[in-house]
Amino acid sequence: MAHHRVILIAGAGPVGLAAAVELTRRGLPVRIIDAGEGPTPPEQSRALGTLPTTLAILAASGVSARLLAEGARITGADVARDGHRLFSIEVSAARTPTPFILSLPQGRTERIMVEWLAAHGVGVEWNLALEDIVDTHKPRAILANGETVAARAVVGCDGVHSRVREAVGIPWRGEGYPGVFSLADVRFSAPIDPTRAKVNIRSGIGGSALLPFGPHAGRYIGLGGDPEALYNGVSGIEAVTWTSRFSVAFRRAERMAKGRVFLAGDAAHVHSPVGGRGMNLGIWDAATLAFLLAEGRETEYETKRLPVVDEVLKVTRQMTDMVSRPGGPMLWLLPFAMPLVTRVPTVARRIAERALALDLPQPEWLAADYGMNRDAG
Ligand SMILES: Cc1cc2nc3c(=O)[nH]c(=O)nc-3n(C[C@H](O)[C@H](O)[C@H](O)COP(=O)(O)OP(=O)(O)OC[C@H]3O[C@@H](n4cnc5c(N)ncnc54)[C@H](O)[C@@H]3O)c2cc1C
Repeated sequence: MAHHRVILIAGAGPVGLAAAVELTRRGLPVRIIDAGEGPTPPEQSRALGTLPTTLAILAASGVSARLLAEGARITGADVARDGHRLFSIEVSAARTPTPFILSLPQGRTERIMVEWLAAHGVGVEWNLALEDIVDTHKPRAILANGETVAARAVVGCDGVHSRVREAVGIPWRGEGYPGVFSLADVRFSAPIDPTRAKVNIRSGIGGSALLPFGPHAGRYIGLGGDPEALYNGVSGIEAVTWTSRFSVAFRRAERMAKGRVFLAGDAAHVHSPVGGRGMNLGIWDAATLAFLLAEGRETEYETKRLPVVDEVLKVTRQMTDMVSRPGGPMLWLLPFAMPLVTRVPTVARRIAERALALDLPQPEWLAADYGMNRDAG
């Protein structure tokens, strides 16, 4: 089999799948392998929030239409302190055709892309790991079944413990963050409002949030090692469908490319889930790389992505500090300042656009492809 023109994607999480979709729709042949048995289990919501830029990116393939048909649209958040409502943030004030966070469990997002690929003749090869890479300029990937694939490029979308990153010797820099986070996905017996997130800042403890993903389902997420503490005392919970505890780190690969080997998603950067940027940032990497490969400009990949990655690491770090150390002046300013400033339309719009990550540099090819120039809207 001649695989010399194939772009090999290692890892079929949301980022690898998005890379495969974007390369396929641009007419570039791909092969996508994954060490695991299949997509993220349906009950593990993981990356729940899909942001407007991601929806704009996946619109051309038709994937966004399917995501939009299934997901819940979060248009605002009600913020409380110790259970007393303080103010609301309306993300619907943002200048974008999709001014909401689309809430859909990661396993569903992945399955929609797996189905899209199957319909376009690309099958994910599960239970097949990349083991090594020889030569980064004319890369040959060695797979766990003994096969050697001479690829046009190798894209490492193989997550935080990336074998691709290790095989080509790219250092992993950064640091862990103190404290543990928990999450609990619950099913409510009575319908909740699927358009509103609820944020509660608890004095001396830290913030927690409820993110709906349907009229009966929601995720509690917050600080502390006990998921039960997040929903204790809440009435109307019919079942707890998934819980998880995790620690957080802020790290990135020193480089996102070496020769014709590229890193995208968690293989290239990790940060806290506060702000819901993780999966989205990875999909933007994947789609940018697909565009550049199609244009023969892939040498620009790292220069285009690293400044955005650094900005996301900085902003998510600030947001994480804010929710995990709420004892400072911010806590006392919030009840007075926020209800006032959120009434000023330009400020409300800036807050909305920051919440939706629209303040980050948008991929320039996206504006050209889809007329997504926000300033024109
Ligand atoms: C508990 C939890 C909660 C989270 N909550 C959020 C959230 O609310 N918002 C958010 O944005 N993000 C969240 N995340 C993070 C989000 O899930 C990740 O950012 C996202 O999955 C990254 O996608 P990825 O495709 O880069 O990597 P992954 O999803 O990790 O996928 C990597 C894939 O590579 C495969 N693989 C590994 N090694 C190899 C190999 N050698 N060869 C071939 N394949 C290989 C793996 O089997 C896996 O399928 C959460 C994560 C967890 C664990």
